Amino acid sequence: MKISEVTFGTGLPALFLLICLAIYTRKKVNDHAQIQQQNHVPDDILTTTIAQQLPVSAMGLDKLTIESYPMTVLGESKRLPKPCDATCAICLSEYKPSETLRTIPECNHYFHSDCIDEWLQLNTTCPVCRNLQESTTPIPSSTSLNT
Ligand SMILES: [Zn+2]
Ligand SMILES: [Zn+2]
Repeated sequence: MKISEVTFGTGLPALFLLICLAIYTRKKVNDHAQIQQQNHVPDDILTTTIAQQLPVSAMGLDKLTIESYPMTVLGESKRLPKPCDATCAICLSEYKPSETLRTIPECNHYFHSDCIDEWLQLNTTCPVCRNLQESTTPIPSSTSLNT
């Protein structure tokens, strides 16, 4: 039995040559394919996805805390406990009659309820004095949910 020896003896170089030839032709084909691909428009469509990581109320106070703050509806006299606070520090406009204001109990600062509600949903500090507000919802002493 000398078949295996023959295969190893002459078959191996032949096989090696065949592989080389195969790689060579393959490379040729690839080169050709690459040339063809160069004509193809590269799809470099700018997909700039700006990850807008806006703090969605996670940074501010919860709604219950904000709603627990005392509200004041302005009368025609625009009477405020502190007359100097006639303008909302958030929107910088003067308070008008029948506008609803909200007070931050910790510092007694007044703002439009709409303005401060929005502000406190994103911040935990008073926009005027930067007093840190506690995010813990205080237990309401008197619930007005009596039906
Ligand atoms: Zn305002
Ligand atoms: Zn304040």
